[in-house]
Amino acid sequence: MATIPKKILIVGGGTSGWMAALHMQDAWGGKGVDICLIESPTIGTVGVGEGTTPLVRNFFTRLGIPESEWMPPCNATYKCGISFPDWSTVAGYETYFHPFFSNRDKEYARIFRENCQRRRDGYDIPVHPDHYFLTSALARQQRSPIPRNKPVADNIYGYHFDAALMGEFLKGKATQRGVTLVQDTITDVAIDSQGDISHVDTENHGQIDADLFVDCSGFKGLLIRQALGEKPNSTKAYMFNDSAVAIPTPKSDDGGIMSETISRAMKYGWVWHIPLSSRTGNGYVYSSDYASEDEVETEFREYLGEDADGMEALHLHWSPGRLENHWKNNCVAIGLSQGFLEPLEALMINVIQTSIERFTAYFERGQFTNRYREDFNGQVNRYIDGILDYLQLHYKLNSRDDTAYWRDNRDNPNMSAQLARVLDAWDRNENIDRVLSESINEQVYPPLSWYCMLSGMGRFPAPGHGPLRLPVRHQQRVRDLSEEHASIFYPHAEYLERLYAG
Ligand SMILES: Cc1cc2nc3c(=O)[nH]c(=O)nc-3n(C[C@H](O)[C@H](O)[C@H](O)COP(=O)(O)OP(=O)(O)OC[C@H]3O[C@@H](n4cnc5c(N)ncnc54)[C@H](O)[C@@H]3O)c2cc1C
Repeated sequence: MATIPKKILIVGGGTSGWMAALHMQDAWGGKGVDICLIESPTIGTVGVGEGTTPLVRNFFTRLGIPESEWMPPCNATYKCGISFPDWSTVAGYETYFHPFFSNRDKEYARIFRENCQRRRDGYDIPVHPDHYFLTSALARQQRSPIPRNKPVADNIYGYHFDAALMGEFLKGKATQRGVTLVQDTITDVAIDSQGDISHVDTENHGQIDADLFVDCSGFKGLLIRQALGEKPNSTKAYMFNDSAVAIPTPKSDDGGIMSETISRAMKYGWVWHIPLSSRTGNGYVYSSDYASEDEVETEFREYLGEDADGMEALHLHWSPGRLENHWKNNCVAIGLSQGFLEPLEALMINVIQTSIERFTAYFERGQFTNRYREDFNGQVNRYIDGILDYLQLHYKLNSRDDTAYWRDNRDNPNMSAQLARVLDAWDRNENIDRVLSESINEQVYPPLSWYCMLSGMGRFPAPGHGPLRLPVRHQQRVRDLSEEHASIFYPHAEYLERLYAG
């Protein structure tokens, strides 16, 4: 039986490195494992990544870190979902909201599904998802997901936070809990005769050896790609975006704070707006095949207006794709080193969190051997490929005609057989829940999210039958009820003020 590793070296102090450090310290610190993290004082972190899904709540809960402790130092806000203006030009469906679902939505979700089915049959009923779900109403009313005088019953929200401050917070927590921090730059990586990493060489600390290495070094993948030779599979044929420019603006001065991310379609891609307690994070994600840095920054600055005057732009480029082997020999890659598709729907922290959690579970189950390596790699790949399908659907459904970028995305013949099957099943009004569970590898979001996207972008046949009066009335009632339910939740700015005041 193999023995538990004595020493783990995590390379990289971005979000992925510190999340891995905290999780591993929690899982193995008490078993005598020495966990060390090295970050370069001269190579910065990527500096973006400010939106999450509800999954990250589990991470903080498991580590016993309450919102009141981590949210204020990270200028964090609540996120009820994402709105998608201007992706569709279908009348009545020019924007829609992707909600995080609540237990209260169950009954309305049933009506929504039934109405979608009737509308797909050709009945003339409006089935816009924004009418059905609690968090849509919360976002419309700029409310927090925290009800007055009641505990939060279910997992209905994610967060926005300042990525740099989050890094600092996690670092403080991890070092306090026993992770050793080395600030130095790795200059070389040594491989032994088995193909394992034996040690790294550093500028000022000499050789650092370990039994297990965690590569959190960002896009370049210092260990997994550069030293162990793993090559990423490109996903550019499916989704074209490979660049972004980020420009922050001051927070709005009307006293309110949005409780949603906005992802607005632009000429060559889409723009995110992420509300923090201190500022608004904005970024324009695009494809360098269709527009240059200058063109995009000019369009972006015109759109942001004078709020962006004097604000520095951060330009980023990546090669969209993912590794085949995230765990190779005695090295596991976590974060951007694993690959990155693009920021739509803010799912990279999900990949990071699930990769760390699955790796520690598999590694321990295999008694700290490589026994479950293939299972782990297969599972991570299925997870990322499921995300790819979900993200690509946004582009396939767009109905914009203003640029070749949007037309090419819509007409793109490259998509997985699974995604093609889902689209076909929706158009034929088959049982979409069944098709999704059979087709999509691992679903990052529930089938209801797929319904919201497909219906929210108006993917329906031309109405052929007369209006159905009953579902329309139903729908009105649902909307009124969710607006009414929303009123028991704190206004977002008011709740944050209480939370921040302690
Ligand atoms: C435009 C854009 C928007 C994004 N938006 C979101 C979002 O909204 N939600 C989301 O979940 N994700 C988002 N992401 C992804 C997110 O930014 C990353 O997943 C996250 O920040 C983790 O990055 P990382 O820790 O893997 O790498 P990095 O932040 O790049 O950290 C790399 C670390 O490695 C260290 N390092 C590198 N080389 C060496 C060396 N030689 N020696 C020692 N140390 C070294 C560096 O010092 C640094 O500490 C976005 C990404 C991009 C590009």
